[in-house]
Amino acid sequence: MRVVIASRNDGKIREIKEIIKLPGIEFLSYRDFCSWPEIQETGNSFRENALLKARAIASYFQLPALADDSGLEVDALEGKPGTFSSRYAGEEASDEENNAKLLRELEGRPVEERTARYGCVAAFADPAGRTLITEGVCEGRIGFGVRGVGGFGYDPLFIPSGYEKTMAELSAKEKNRISHRGQAFRRMKGLLGKKPDINP
Ligand code: IMP
Repeated sequence: MRVVIASRNDGKIREIKEIIKLPGIEFLSYRDFCSWPEIQETGNSFRENALLKARAIASYFQLPALADDSGLEVDALEGKPGTFSSRYAGEEASDEENNAKLLRELEGRPVEERTARYGCVAAFADPAGRTLITEGVCEGRIGFGVRGVGGFGYDPLFIPSGYEKTMAELSAKEKNRISHRGQAFRRMKGLLGKKPDINP
């Protein structure tokens, strides 16, 4: 079956393709189409936004779609940036600008006040309206400066629990093994593997 990845984030697309490798699934992304709908992420949770994106893309292309809504929740900031993770420093903010803002917001906070977690909801939708949802969480803390060049987004600042390296200093394989996205999409892979009848 052909499945459209409902994202324009190349970091997410790369990781999702690596995590869900099923012989029966061919992934398409925005790069395979000449038009792509503008989707407003108006939900208040990762779950609402993931479903909204998967449903919108499945309906637009009349093909099954797989979406990821994810973000970083920092305890000292009452769970922010959360669903605003990609736009923390402004609508068109770069990863570098978001990281710089996060470091400023946590300035003067000691290590024990820098706890945080990545959350991810994976949503699958087919054109008939059937949906599947899975989730993953990765606990950790925010470092005092950027380190590493792997991954994307907040990875140069995020130190997973049990590690001294940032997520951006881990190999892609190691990140996927422990990450919020790795957990959510491995669960999704399990569900998709059991449902070969979903709108091929
Ligand atoms: P979304 O596209 O609205 O789901 O925004 C997700 C945002 O959360 C990304 O743009 C990053 O800022 C952040 N994020 C989610 N997952 C990761 C990750 O694996 N590493 C680093 N940042 C992430």
